[in-house]
Amino acid sequence: MPLRLDTLKCTGCGLCELACSFRRDRVITTMRSSIMLHLDDKKNYFGVMIKRPNDELVLGRPEGLEIQGRGDRKEEDGAGAKPILLREECDECDGEIPYCVRICPSRCLYEGE
Ligand code: SF4
Ligand code: SF4
Repeated sequence: MPLRLDTLKCTGCGLCELACSFRRDRVITTMRSSIMLHLDDKKNYFGVMIKRPNDELVLGRPEGLEIQGRGDRKEEDGAGAKPILLREECDECDGEIPYCVRICPSRCLYEGE
């Protein structure tokens, strides 16, 4: 079932990033996660990015949800989007209940049509 994100409920805890890496490597790290906490210099500005197939990025930021294809990247998106493009794409946990969904304390990550 597709992964969904309610951006305004995200608290920026970063647990989804750790859970996704744990699922891949069985270690607590953020190096291989398909979901990445996004922090900015602005106060209380945070969210998550998810890398999907074909370098598509789901940007869940305070202003809402945006889906960017390869050709949609803008200079003002900053350097934050680059590290996640080097990571593996989300496979929605291959039919399991997604690890990121299980751990998200605010239930802003969920599955749905
Ligand atoms: S659904 Fe699975 S692979 Fe995708 S971001 Fe969540 S934990 Fe990672
Ligand atoms: S676990 Fe949930 S609340 Fe925490 S950063 Fe990830 S999406 Fe946001």
